[in-house]
Amino acid sequence: MPAGATRPARDICSDCGLCDSRWVAYVRRACAFLHQGFEAMEQAAHGRSRDLENEDELYFGVSRTMATARLRQPLEGAQWTGIVSRIGVRALESGLVDAVLCVQQSPDDRFTPVPILARTPEQVLAARVNKPTLSPNLKVLEQLPGSGIRRLLAIGVGCQVQALRAVQNTLPLDQLYVLGLPCVDNVSRAGLQTFLESSSRSPDTVVHYEFMQDFRIHFRHSDGSTETVPFFGLDTPRLKDVFAPSCLSCFDYTNAGADLVVGYMGAEFGRQWLVVRNGLGEQLLDLVRPELDMAPVTSRGDRRAAVQQGIDAYDKAVKLPRWLAELVGAVVQRIGPKGLEYARFSIDSHFTRNALWVRRHHPEIAERHIPAFAQRIVSRYRLPST
Ligand code: FAD
Ligand code: SF4
Repeated sequence: MPAGATRPARDICSDCGLCDSRWVAYVRRACAFLHQGFEAMEQAAHGRSRDLENEDELYFGVSRTMATARLRQPLEGAQWTGIVSRIGVRALESGLVDAVLCVQQSPDDRFTPVPILARTPEQVLAARVNKPTLSPNLKVLEQLPGSGIRRLLAIGVGCQVQALRAVQNTLPLDQLYVLGLPCVDNVSRAGLQTFLESSSRSPDTVVHYEFMQDFRIHFRHSDGSTETVPFFGLDTPRLKDVFAPSCLSCFDYTNAGADLVVGYMGAEFGRQWLVVRNGLGEQLLDLVRPELDMAPVTSRGDRRAAVQQGIDAYDKAVKLPRWLAELVGAVVQRIGPKGLEYARFSIDSHFTRNALWVRRHHPEIAERHIPAFAQRIVSRYRLPST
């Protein structure tokens, strides 16, 4: 946080960047951590709020279609196959937008985010791959007035998108497109170091990592080698305090306000997951449709017992020995949830953990902060006492 900057959300601020722009004037109703307005946001962005009786919408939000996909020619150096960056490039090349809000990296540190308004395909490509740290994306809104940018594609995670949607009508734009990423368990730059040191055999050479659908973290090192570590072998006692408090109090995993969401969690291993929420999302996907190998979503397995066991183990901060973690990992990988059921496993695990965290650390806001859809999901499980 810059010296002297105010952050009304205090310890649960995600440093989304709004407070570094003149739109800080709207912070009380725009900040995702001060005011939860999912229904109004969905209504304004998609024309309706999610149908809580529809199991897919309860979990994944308003959607027209879901699919899985890969770029036929994956983009070298992207997080997955690069669908997000390719959409950004095509949006500029086709003239759909004048600029793309995306996140490059600091020249000194691969994991320090540098948000920009990209005006060329090269600048969008230079923003490919995740910077797995809190990124103040919305501070670049400050550059909009006088820039000549009238049509913008914003790429971002849920907390950034919630604040952006809340101020959208006050921005000097004719058209805004929002391409969302699902997001959980983000960290500060210092927290990232602790995470890498406790999880990887060579923390200083990690250039890329992802929690993948095979229940393992895949680390890529600067020499091109890959290391995988089972989720169940993580040092839970040490990592409990690593994730940012904002992420421990977030229920917008699947980015409810975006026009189009591109992640991986609802797809089988190796593929990306697409959720089209509205007509603008269709337009974004159409930009790259001819370049995609697409397939319907699938769902296998039953997550519920595994989620309940995980809640109890996390609360007791159990750390399994490596051999047992490998064994559990191998079994879960073979018979565990796949496709949309994996996505539900991850949502259930994170929403229950976060509900407990909010009730314990901020009981005064818990009732109004945890949205109705998350309350409904959390109520399906037995939680330890607060
Ligand atoms: P690329 O073409 O490589 O483009 C990546 C894009 O991410 C770039 O446009 C860049 O601007 C943007 N970006 C990078 N870092 C940040 C940041 N810190 N904040 C905002 N935007 C950023 N997907 C899931 O399905 N489940 C998850 O749990 C999940 N967690 C995530 C956590 C974080 C912190 C981030 C940034 C992403 C997460 N994703 C998750 C999304 C997923 O990892 C991929 O980013 C997504 O599938 C796009 O892959 P790609 O190859 O198309 O992206
Ligand atoms: Fe400001 Fe964003 Fe932090 Fe909320 S999350 S206090 S809007 S910087």
